[in-house]
Amino acid sequence: MKEQFDVVVVGGGMVGSAVACCLGGSELKVAVIEAQVPEAFSSEQPHDLRVSALSIASKNILETVGAWEGVTSRRYCPFKRMRVWETAGDTTFNSDDIRYPELGYIVENRITQLALLDRLPGFDNIELLMPQTITKINYDGHASELVLADGRVLQAKLLVAADGGQSRVRQAVGLGVTSWDYGQHALVIYIETAYPQQDITWQRFVSSGPQAFLPLTGNYGSIVWYQSPDEVRRLQALPYEQLRAELVAAFPDCLGEVKQVLGVASFPLKRQHAQRYVKQGVALVGDAAHMINPLAGQGVNIGLLDAAALAEILVDAYQRGKDIADLAVLQRYEAMRRNENLKMMTLMDVFYRSFSNDILPLKLLRNLGLGLAQRITPARNKAMKAAMGLEGRLPKLARGEHLLAR
Ligand SMILES: Cc1cc2nc3c(=O)[nH]c(=O)nc-3n(C[C@H](O)[C@H](O)[C@H](O)COP(=O)(O)OP(=O)(O)OC[C@H]3O[C@@H](n4cnc5c(N)ncnc54)[C@H](O)[C@@H]3O)c2cc1C
Repeated sequence: MKEQFDVVVVGGGMVGSAVACCLGGSELKVAVIEAQVPEAFSSEQPHDLRVSALSIASKNILETVGAWEGVTSRRYCPFKRMRVWETAGDTTFNSDDIRYPELGYIVENRITQLALLDRLPGFDNIELLMPQTITKINYDGHASELVLADGRVLQAKLLVAADGGQSRVRQAVGLGVTSWDYGQHALVIYIETAYPQQDITWQRFVSSGPQAFLPLTGNYGSIVWYQSPDEVRRLQALPYEQLRAELVAAFPDCLGEVKQVLGVASFPLKRQHAQRYVKQGVALVGDAAHMINPLAGQGVNIGLLDAAALAEILVDAYQRGKDIADLAVLQRYEAMRRNENLKMMTLMDVFYRSFSNDILPLKLLRNLGLGLAQRITPARNKAMKAAMGLEGRLPKLARGEHLLAR
């Protein structure tokens, strides 16, 4: 028997589960298919290597759909200051300057995902299929049919691809991407420090690339070290004690004493953007639509804005009696998000390329830029608000407004 759904979301990661939560309680019948069950959380576990700096807009979305408590009751690290510097220029942003208690929150990706997935059983209109494997995707140009490994066949008016950068759905429906490799890898290192970390994240620019530090709870932190692929391979192969010694030599001493390295992983840096986000009966969200340089930690933040925008447009279309899978409806979503995401990706590229080199005029310019950012209050406040996800055209959920009457 074929089962009919209004919306089938492929991928129940942070962004896919957010799409489902945002549609929770609506009249739309939704299925979420996730291949892997995330491990349950216990406070005894060491921090995961995959962590993200969530913006205030992301927190608003999670809070409005009832998932933020699932984050705060597990583990998270709020921060209110962000320091950016290089050889000569230096600036520190502080949320007090714009009267916000925090600039953002460092959260393990799995915790954000678990907090969102926890909400799904509370909604009658959502079915979570996890773990579940899709054996076939048939898209006929209007709607989709998915054959699952257990023999179930789902028919979707709207197929939402939230299945990450290598999106199988995107490929199955024939939506193309523009992509390039930055020729660098990000080495993520989980460390224990002698002192508890404070409420500050920092990013330093050196000619080999950026170096970043994200505070975690307790005496722990997460380092992101951008290097050439060869250098990352070399560093990753070192015994942890030797890696610690290299880290201490290369990083500024504001980390305090680094007691030990507890884990390491690396990620190739890639920029990728889908040429279109939508087709009749299909929409892309999150990394399936865009992969952005993690420099300023915006990937999942813009993905959560996609989720909130798509849900807002679908609920509005349904309430006005429109076909939610119609191309004209989906194009409203694309219009709301694609340019905003492109602007953010371009800004990250400008930072990345102008800071990661030693060309003298660029060096002078960026020092001037950091100096101005330090002195000119409106520019500082605007930059801070952009990092907090509070600039540009925001979906309702990101402003803390509910989609449905309560
Ligand atoms: C080093 C590094 C640091 C980063 N730091 C930050 C940061 O500080 N802040 C930030 O905002 N972003 C950051 N990012 C980016 C962020 O991790 C991604 O943008 C985010 O994970 C994307 O979420 P997603 O749900 O779209 O995709 P994914 O996290 O890739 O999730 C996709 C989900 O789909 C599932 N799936 C895939 N295929 C199928 C299938 N066929 N069937 C069923 N399920 C499927 C997967 O199991 C997975 O659960 C960073 C990235 C890197 C590499």
